[in-house]
Amino acid sequence: MQDVPMKRYTSMKVGGPVKYLIYPLDESDLIAALTHLKQEGIRYRFFGNGTNVIVDDRGINEAVIRITRMVHTRHRATENGAYVDVAGGVSLRTFILHESEKGLSGLEKLYWIPGTIGGAIKMNAGSFGSTISDTLEAIRIINGQGIVKTVPKNELLFGYRTSSVHTSECVVSARFYLTARDKKAIQKDMAYVYGERKKRHPMEFPSSGSIFKQVHGTPAWKFIEQAGLKGYQIGGAQVSQKHANFIINRGYATAQDIKRLIDTIKKEVFEKLGVTLHEEVELWGFDG
Ligand SMILES: Cc1cc2nc3c(=O)[nH]c(=O)nc-3n(C[C@H](O)[C@H](O)[C@H](O)COP(=O)(O)OP(=O)(O)OC[C@H]3O[C@@H](n4cnc5c(N)ncnc54)[C@H](O)[C@@H]3O)c2cc1C
Repeated sequence: MQDVPMKRYTSMKVGGPVKYLIYPLDESDLIAALTHLKQEGIRYRFFGNGTNVIVDDRGINEAVIRITRMVHTRHRATENGAYVDVAGGVSLRTFILHESEKGLSGLEKLYWIPGTIGGAIKMNAGSFGSTISDTLEAIRIINGQGIVKTVPKNELLFGYRTSSVHTSECVVSARFYLTARDKKAIQKDMAYVYGERKKRHPMEFPSSGSIFKQVHGTPAWKFIEQAGLKGYQIGGAQVSQKHANFIINRGYATAQDIKRLIDTIKKEVFEKLGVTLHEEVELWGFDG
């Protein structure tokens, strides 16, 4: 697809067009696309569910590759659980739900994080004290040269919302080790996680989740609240009243409204509290 507006694909519901939006159907298709882009000198990025990305209103003159049509899951049972191979484009939420139905446990605290497996690994997504890397064994990547590699967890340098997955590398699949547990107990934990998220997060509005990272273990919302910014609005972008580290789109926000609000929060928090906030979300295309 050409000149596709990213507002249709990001959870914040803003963003201008990308040059190409490519959906490979399998690994050889992906390698062919990467080879073609390289030959044509077209820059590219990988994209999952767009839940941690804010794209500028002007869009980006690049290709975006989305592997959400490459979906598979394979199980190899062991005495106490199973090794599970899952495609990078699979929705994390759906994966956790399906594994719970099989009585396989280990990812339930991440339930309802709205990304894909690939996006979650790149960001080392986490919640309720758990991260995606906890039960991960290895990933399969395809790099910009079209080379396929298996990378074990200890080489992925996972940190707080970071990994060593490079922007030119696609996480095509991941292997988790999940342990056997009573299905009802797993689903009870998932229901708890969902309930807490619903209580704390402004799920009724488009957003990108937490905008800023914690600062030395202190959640960013505390600083934003202390700076008196809860509810502060620029255009259609507003600091959520429910969770001050969420910026919500009131329905008419532009990417520029959101960027201006992010810059204002950083400035005010620094001036009032001497604290420097760093974005957890990725901003695409704002630098020109
Ligand atoms: C309501 C809401 C709640 C959220 N709650 C949480 C939370 O509790 N904890 C948390 O950690 N995050 C949370 N997030 C943020 C977000 O869901 C996670 O960061 C998620 O892991 C991003 O996945 P994605 O597929 O949407 O990635 P995208 O936003 O599409 O991309 C994010 C990054 O991953 C890269 N990427 C995507 N797919 C691949 C791939 N296959 N291979 C290589 N790189 C890839 C992209 O290039 C980009 O760099 C929340 C977001 C929302 C909207």
